[in-house]
Amino acid sequence: MSHPGPCRNLVVVFGDQLDAGSSALDGFDSDQDLVWMAESAVEAAHVWSNKHRIALFFSSMRHFAEELKREGKPIAYHRMAKEAVSLWEILEGSLSACRPERIICAHPGEYRILQGLKDLSRKAGLELVVRDDRHFLDDPASFVQWAGKRKQVRMEYYYRMMRIRHDILMTGEGKPIGGDWNYDKANRGSFGQKGPTGGFPDSLHFTPDAITREVLDLVESRFHDHPGDLRRFGWPVTRSQALEALDDFIEHRLHSFGNYQDAMWRGQPYLYHSLLSASLNLKLLNPREVIEKAVAAFESGRVPLNSVEGFVRQILGWREYVRGIYWWKMPDYVDLNALEAHEPLPGFYWTGETPYACLADTLGQTLDLGYAHHIQRLMITGLYAMLLGVDPKALHEWYLAVYVDAVEWVELPNTLGMSQFGDGGIMASKPYAASGKYIHKMSNYCQDCPADPAESTGPRACPFTTLYWDFLIRNRERLRDNPRLALQFKNSDRLAGDRQEAISHRAEQVRSDPSGKALF
Ligand code: FAD
Ligand code: SF4
Repeated sequence: MSHPGPCRNLVVVFGDQLDAGSSALDGFDSDQDLVWMAESAVEAAHVWSNKHRIALFFSSMRHFAEELKREGKPIAYHRMAKEAVSLWEILEGSLSACRPERIICAHPGEYRILQGLKDLSRKAGLELVVRDDRHFLDDPASFVQWAGKRKQVRMEYYYRMMRIRHDILMTGEGKPIGGDWNYDKANRGSFGQKGPTGGFPDSLHFTPDAITREVLDLVESRFHDHPGDLRRFGWPVTRSQALEALDDFIEHRLHSFGNYQDAMWRGQPYLYHSLLSASLNLKLLNPREVIEKAVAAFESGRVPLNSVEGFVRQILGWREYVRGIYWWKMPDYVDLNALEAHEPLPGFYWTGETPYACLADTLGQTLDLGYAHHIQRLMITGLYAMLLGVDPKALHEWYLAVYVDAVEWVELPNTLGMSQFGDGGIMASKPYAASGKYIHKMSNYCQDCPADPAESTGPRACPFTTLYWDFLIRNRERLRDNPRLALQFKNSDRLAGDRQEAISHRAEQVRSDPSGKALF
């Protein structure tokens, strides 16, 4: 686009800040100020992004720009250029054309972007105003205040504090409704080995409109070698679609969300999950309205307490907590590698080609749809990488690329901290190490797999089970003082010497063929 004339404030809106009520727009004067948005090919390919992720961002940005235009706000919207131009080059061009007095934005979602903005405004000799992002229920400074006082910064205590602070699911006497802070014990149901009698619930798919179709064509042509099957694109790209998706979840899936939140089933990517993370992270939805609607469904007797509490915990607890950790610990956090894991990311994470049923299913839907639910991310792809000893930074780049909801503030702590124990226990009290038996209990994957979850050695050994014992053997010294691993170490100590040797030998075979294509 051609650059508009001079302006007072240049209000920068990034692709994950599509909130008409954003603090960046406070005091916006249509006669003097200008909203600035840009699609950058360099940014889109900063990691090898899934086509769904790129399309979701661009389409949502274009719809949001249309909304602002309808409100009468002047906007400089830069569509992706033919050349690979970076965000900063586009912004620099706009600064020289508009010569604003200052740049204003809401707090970005990525440390790198915040630094880039600071550098650019310094170089241009311009004031930069970074406003708190009031989308969130907490802010980085208050998180640090809370965390700074503690020896251990556990999510559970943060969540309780947030429940009290925001008076959510609390009795008038300051106690949690139902008497307990969490109902995790009721939230570990599986579908057994036969599956549910009534089938699985449906989820909403939004048919692409003209704006989205144009974006899908663009993404297909410019990023054709990236993963993602765009024929299946159906994500909400506007606030009204996101609200529809929220209502659909509350009406049709929230009642069983708690019970089945850890369950997996082959060929069923969505189950009872909300599919709201991308809409939340792009700020099409506000977490307060999401929580309010869920609590209202509980109060009207439509959903049980274990489900609503489990859901609220994810949004009010985990989501706010990981953001706090990110801004507290960056920029060093991304380089932490407490388990000294240096294996490369296996190539099949980009193709999904493996005989192992759980990995094939999770990777297949991840690459095709840009979605996997939490337990698949944590206990299939995340667990396998940790047991293999994959470098957490390499894994982080993969997670940032493949999911539609991936924004660094939420992805990095989940990957490096929660799933890889790369931060040495800032987030998790112990590594999420488990064998194939866990996957067998929570899914039907093992039914169709050439490996056997009960076997750790031999020709049918399950790679998770082999690597689980190998992980305990390898990390015995490093993690021996962790009381939460005492039982697991006690069990591994019971393995006779020749058994340990056989496991280590098989683990080497798995490590040299992580996809299992040669072993099976
Ligand atoms: P639901 O299961 O329906 O959960 C409801 C909502 O709770 C989600 O929409 C999300 O906003 C929030 N939520 C749930 N778990 C978490 C969590 N651990 N941290 C933060 N918020 C949470 N989530 C992202 O939004 N972006 C990411 O890039 C991302 N990367 C992850 C990487 C790994 C290795 C792991 C283990 C988890 C990651 N998560 C990420 C968290 C979680 O897996 C996704 O939020 C969830 O799967 C999204 O699907 P859903 O909307 O159907 O979630
Ligand atoms: Fe996954 Fe092991 Fe089960 Fe195969 S046997 S599906 S590799 S857990």
